[in-house]
Amino acid sequence: MPDFVTRFAPSPTGLLHLGHAASAFHVWEAARQAGGRMLLRIEDIDLGRCKPEYTDAIFEDLAWLGFEWEELVRIQSEHFGEYEKVVETLTAMGLTYRCFRTRSEIAEEQAQAGLAPGMPFTGQPLPPEEEAERLGAEAPFTWRLSLEKCRAWLGPRYDQLAFELLSPGGHTETVKARPDLHGDINLTRKDSPTAYHVAATHDDALQGITHVIRGEDLAEAAHIHVLLQALMDWPQPVYTHHPLVMGPDGKRLAKRFQSKSLASLRADGLSPDQVRRLAGV
Ligand code: GLU
Repeated sequence: MPDFVTRFAPSPTGLLHLGHAASAFHVWEAARQAGGRMLLRIEDIDLGRCKPEYTDAIFEDLAWLGFEWEELVRIQSEHFGEYEKVVETLTAMGLTYRCFRTRSEIAEEQAQAGLAPGMPFTGQPLPPEEEAERLGAEAPFTWRLSLEKCRAWLGPRYDQLAFELLSPGGHTETVKARPDLHGDINLTRKDSPTAYHVAATHDDALQGITHVIRGEDLAEAAHIHVLLQALMDWPQPVYTHHPLVMGPDGKRLAKRFQSKSLASLRADGLSPDQVRRLAGV
């Protein structure tokens, strides 16, 4: 088994821009240095926002940048049944509950509990009669993962959850996982049979990903992904969080570049190398 398998996993909700290019350069460079395998995964679970033409544009942009990937590209929207199975398994383990709350109801509850807006949410299932009533009225709900139940299920292992963090410079440290940063995550969405954390961790396990390399903006995701891996008996990859794309002055990239698609930079006559420098990689 190769000891380095990584992936680039964009969501086709729009055209790729410089931030994506920077991320792609980091991932492909790590795979090249390790002599590892490089997979491409299309994370198109948000059916309202993802479009097939954006998927086609991803292939085109990455090929133009000079990247190669293994032929079998995983398209997540073709595998909803597999993600549903994960939710069913976690439910059979007694770790989930249905959540009928709307965003504003959650905000209201949090405020009443004296929590700042956006604090991680933790809740309880509704009393059975109330739940049956809502189900009867076909009220939409999501499945949430109960951290309280996960803690009980894993016992002392819960507090020992940790992951290996490999810095882009090559230094490894062990980081204690903090699932509480996320609260009771949604495993499904009201408009989709899966949520990002389920699909991403399922596929990382299925595809034998040994190294997950993604931007610092997703650094907190590892804290909940290792919990899902422990619950599902999935292997745990090593995580690397690369810096986000910076402008030439070391500050966050100017708005006019942030929003520019790679396709438009290409149309402006920039070469892949010029795009790489603009992305600061
Ligand atoms: N699909 C995610 C994004 O485009 C990336 C997820 C990941 O690398 O795990 O931000």
